[in-house]
Amino acid sequence: MRLVLLGAPGAGKGTQAMKLIDKCGIPQISTGDILRKAVADGTPLGKEAKSYMDSGGLVPDTVVIGLVKERLAQDDCEKGYILDGFPRTTPQAEALDAELASMNTPLTDALSVDVPMDDLMKRLTGRRTCKACKQMYNVHFSAPQKEGVCDKCGGELMQRDDDKEDTIKNRLEVYQKSTAPLIDYYKGKGILKSVEGTGSIDDIFNKVCSMLNA
Ligand code: AMP
Repeated sequence: MRLVLLGAPGAGKGTQAMKLIDKCGIPQISTGDILRKAVADGTPLGKEAKSYMDSGGLVPDTVVIGLVKERLAQDDCEKGYILDGFPRTTPQAEALDAELASMNTPLTDALSVDVPMDDLMKRLTGRRTCKACKQMYNVHFSAPQKEGVCDKCGGELMQRDDDKEDTIKNRLEVYQKSTAPLIDYYKGKGILKSVEGTGSIDDIFNKVCSMLNA
């Protein structure tokens, strides 16, 4: 399976991706995670990306496309992968298609996780992630047993810098303008599937698995 996950920030793409990884044994490629690591490590890439990320805008296409091409060339992608947070613009989608065509491995599926705009703000402001194992929580809907501590590994929970209210507003606007058109892009390619991203995580996951034959 070579899958693109589409959906607004906070739609639950990352959560469904983590479950798919466990089930299918293929890697998740999250450009957001790669960029956050570069920022934390203080690399030249991280320094370039930081200001875009802090404002909730998009990192330039050329930078992100280069990162993804490098990642797709690694051995663990041979059996398939889940792209989470990439592509986010039409030029990124076109560059991905061109790269995969040259490798003779086109995308098999694009899955859109759909959540009403009104719900997204609450999801994003409540989001917390374990620094160690990346398990996700939400203080409104799926709080950890002990505040600030991961149930799974005891690691410290953190809030992403860009999950603050004013940045979130910008991220949602950027999504509507630049990324939402990709739903039609993949519909046109005949590989789009859509799932409603509201309800229990496990119910959504069951629907996702049956749509993707996973
Ligand atoms: P995410 O974790 O996917 O929400 O990404 C966090 C931030 O990283 C975004 O708000 C962007 O600033 C940046 N980013 C992640 N993926 C991309 C991408 N495909 N294109 C441009 N910027 C990206």
